Amino acid sequence: MNDEDNKTKRSEDFADWANAPESLRKDLNAGLRHLHFLSMQSKHDLVDITSRFFALMEELVANGQLDLRTFDERRLRLREKEEARLQQRAHVQVADPVDKYELEDLPQIDCQSRIHLCKARCCKLTFPLSFQDLDEGIVQWNYLNPYQIRQKPDGYCVHNKSDSGHCCVYKHRPAICRTYDCRNDKRIWLDFEKGIPAPEDKNLQVQSDTT
Ligand code: SF4
Ligand code: SF4
Repeated sequence: MNDEDNKTKRSEDFADWANAPESLRKDLNAGLRHLHFLSMQSKHDLVDITSRFFALMEELVANGQLDLRTFDERRLRLREKEEARLQQRAHVQVADPVDKYELEDLPQIDCQSRIHLCKARCCKLTFPLSFQDLDEGIVQWNYLNPYQIRQKPDGYCVHNKSDSGHCCVYKHRPAICRTYDCRNDKRIWLDFEKGIPAPEDKNLQVQSDTT
């Protein structure tokens, strides 16, 4: 089985999990969250090790025991290799810790009158959920890419109703769904006022500070 076959197989396995009974999904959610917390802890430990490493390097350079130019050449070469390797690995993302129910001054957009034009394209954007969303266990996340919003094969969020374009978890929708303003987003609208949507982009992504 090659890499592509493996990826397809994993997607199918996880799609099965998405349809599993609620109790199993809760267990899976809890287990994965534990693993992701460990992963975040490792990240913090890595920061500590890195700072010690740089302190050691500075000490060696100061004492004339390390040639910085040769070291930098070696470092850049190895870094390129390492970055290519990291791109193949999962990356945990969590949205900013804001209380979504306390957000104020939300954009006032008459979606109802425009949804036939935009086709609710905002619900194809990818973004991470917050711990508040995860604790509620209502909005679903992508097991293959924690904690990004889970999407259907057509790219839409799993909570977007394909017939009407409406959100079926509207009361509990994530903070980014509340604060996002499509009006000046050129990926969504060429001209919002004139109702001219932008050409379709399959890789829509909301920029958000993540952990
Ligand atoms: S793209 Fe804009 S107008 Fe269309 S549904 Fe989303 S927020 Fe509303
Ligand atoms: S949670 Fe609702 S508003 Fe947010 S992307 Fe999904 S369908 Fe759209």
